[in-house]
Amino acid sequence: MATPVPHEGPPRPYHVSIVLPCFNEEEVLERTHRRLTRAVRDLPHEIIYVDDGSTDQTWPLIEKLTGETPTARAVRFSRNFGHQAACLAGLHEADGDAVVVIDADLQDPPELIPRMVEQWLKGWSVVSAQRNHRQGETVFKKATAYAYYRLLASLTHQPVALDTGDFRLLDRKVVDFVANLGESELFLRGAISWTGFPETSIGYERDARGGGETKYTLRKMLALSRSGLLAGGAALPVRLPSYIGAASLAAAVGVGVAGRSLRRATPLGAFGIQSLACGVLGEYLHGVFRQVQGRPPYLVLERVRSTARPTDATPELVEEYA
Ligand code: UDP
Ligand code: MG
Repeated sequence: MATPVPHEGPPRPYHVSIVLPCFNEEEVLERTHRRLTRAVRDLPHEIIYVDDGSTDQTWPLIEKLTGETPTARAVRFSRNFGHQAACLAGLHEADGDAVVVIDADLQDPPELIPRMVEQWLKGWSVVSAQRNHRQGETVFKKATAYAYYRLLASLTHQPVALDTGDFRLLDRKVVDFVANLGESELFLRGAISWTGFPETSIGYERDARGGGETKYTLRKMLALSRSGLLAGGAALPVRLPSYIGAASLAAAVGVGVAGRSLRRATPLGAFGIQSLACGVLGEYLHGVFRQVQGRPPYLVLERVRSTARPTDATPELVEEYA
């Protein structure tokens, strides 16, 4: 992992925004609020609840909790737009010098936030919470998550923080980049890794849900995985038909020449040509997607210029080599 490159340094006094996306969390939200406010009482902070179109008592509960807590405020979506959209809305709303995104179901311990802030104050731009163990999650979920993060890292050729969700602290500079990418389908954790700002992590034990059931249905999980691969620019899926097509054509030539059988080589050759054509189309589509996605081709971390003052010898040197 990279060494910390001190950002300009958080302004003092600073304040931290804490964003909680919520979808039907009536069973746990009150407890989350109590634990969170206790955990961050010594930090200058604001709490932002984003109600992602809950259909239970979550919003009335949020209204009550924000009414009682001067540091809390909330936004409510017109319907369920999904966890990533709720995180993005939180980033847009937040005006802190750093922003922490944390799940509302107590699987992410709020007590970790002050430790994340400590790392931020040391100069890290991104502080992610990395899951050591996951309590109360199915073997299927653990296995698919383990495999998916590794697949994503290898297919997108981008650094991907392994076993890390969206429980992170982001410096204002990073927030401004990812919140203004303008992508309609943001894959937050991928976008953060893509910025490449100095990132460190803190290990933690992931608890079981504080109450209620997971709100990430299989359909939502699949949509998230797809959007991660797409936004990360994974090219293999669109390139695969080209590889298969080329291999099939080569095999067709082999069968035609060695086997002296045009009849047997023709179907293989036709399949190869079709597959290649799909690959070429995919390649163009991929190019168009990247262009439309419109991410900047690079991000500058810092600039440096000479602080040495020109000496008397400098003008002569310039003349000599002019
Ligand atoms: N969530 C959301 N919108 C959704 C699904 C989930 O805002 O459509 C929130 C949810 O309330 C929680 C966080 O996203 O605060 C993570 O969801 P969940 O705990 O259900 O996912 P899991 O931990 O099971 O992956
Ligand atoms: Mg959860």
